[in-house]
Amino acid sequence: MLLRRTKILATLGPSTDKPGVLEELFDAGIDVVRLNFSHGSAQDHIDRANRVRELSKKTGRRVGILADLQGPKIRIERFKENKVWLDEGQDFALDINLGKYDGDHTQVGISYEPLAREVKPGTRLLLDDGRVVLDVVNVENGTRVNTKVVVGGDLSNNKGINLLGGGLSAAALTDKDKEDIKTIAVIQADYVAISFPRTADDMHEARALLEAAGSYAGLVAKIERAEAMDVIDDIIMASDAIMVARGDLGVEIGDANLPAAQKHLIKRSRELNRAVITATQMMESMIENPIPTRAEVFDVANAIVDGTDAIMLSAETASGKHPVKTVQAMVRICWETEKQPSVTHSHHRMTDSFSAIDEAIAMSAMYMANHTKISGVASLTESGSTPLWMSRINSNIPIYAFSSHEKTLGRVTLYRGVFPIPFSRESMEKAEVNKAIIDKLRTRGVVNKGDTYIITKGDATGHQGGTNSLKVVTVED
Ligand code: PGA
Ligand code: MN
Repeated sequence: MLLRRTKILATLGPSTDKPGVLEELFDAGIDVVRLNFSHGSAQDHIDRANRVRELSKKTGRRVGILADLQGPKIRIERFKENKVWLDEGQDFALDINLGKYDGDHTQVGISYEPLAREVKPGTRLLLDDGRVVLDVVNVENGTRVNTKVVVGGDLSNNKGINLLGGGLSAAALTDKDKEDIKTIAVIQADYVAISFPRTADDMHEARALLEAAGSYAGLVAKIERAEAMDVIDDIIMASDAIMVARGDLGVEIGDANLPAAQKHLIKRSRELNRAVITATQMMESMIENPIPTRAEVFDVANAIVDGTDAIMLSAETASGKHPVKTVQAMVRICWETEKQPSVTHSHHRMTDSFSAIDEAIAMSAMYMANHTKISGVASLTESGSTPLWMSRINSNIPIYAFSSHEKTLGRVTLYRGVFPIPFSRESMEKAEVNKAIIDKLRTRGVVNKGDTYIITKGDATGHQGGTNSLKVVTVED
């Protein structure tokens, strides 16, 4: 039985709160949910997390939880009439001293004080994901940024601002994020996404705060600033996964640079043994429509061919009209795309040497799986490292991560081709373990007589990095 390998990450929101929708999303095949801390109250997120945990228990499908921090998204304040129209060529000002609700078609307030210091004549500002473009003319009194409208259009309350080429100095973790980290520790999220990190230090700081709060979440760096691209290897190494955050990144580096950036980010994170999520506008038109555009079908397929672990849905599921149909469409595209030879063949680390035995075993298991007739690889894992290494190799052989640790089962929900299976060998004789593993797979309906499985494990439980055996088992009855 072939299983879908690419993981689907669905953002929760008002549309998925409707009765029955989350259940249908589980059925359709979501692997991880995103709690978006840019919207909603702490209690909303706690409630949604509880429902996901309950359904995971009920259905036996361990769905991961990713909590996404808002970060220092810089926004304009509000307009008296909620919305204005800006004409190309007109003057428009962003003013720190203007009242929060006092914007009109000539000016609007802004709460980010450093803006006036960080721009100079000629700086290009992109508002509302680039729908409105302003060029800075001058800065008055260090508090008012006068601009000329280059691309006009509707501009409404609280829209975001990015600098073309990046360069805003705001720290990645805001006071709100630090508060939210406490909620995330209560939820025991499997992953936390950090928005707008500039450097590896931003990730180190986030990790320290999470640990202090008692969270064991894996860290996701959202790559959405131009300057992050300059130190990308350091950021990847400081994280457990990265997100190709195409919304903000596209605004900062220019949309035409996104395809090359996506390919580079996916390739680099796989090479550095990290997971990667491709995000934003993958099925944008399905917010309104029941079927995707051809371009969206290709976008999802291309991300899979590029090697992404997961594909993410934002408003499509959180507030769209067809959350379930959107996931079903993604599933369909995954199925067909994963049959492509480029997705099942690998030259990954063929000429490397490995310093650790467990890593060498992970590579050997996958080499064998890809070059003989193997039905699946079962990895008994403490930390999840072995299945992560395995899944960096392109393959169509499923990797089952057997673990007794909630943390590890949650971690692997994001890894391409890896399926979490709760399993404890605590009370078993050594000789029974292989049989128990096959029996467990049997309950999932994936085992047939004559199938050959690879099992990797260590001699004892409770010992990370202990994987030292690779056993080939053929199912006899
Ligand atoms: P966001 O991040 O949806 O939180 O803005 C993703 C992106 O910028 O693409
Ligand atoms: Mn973003």
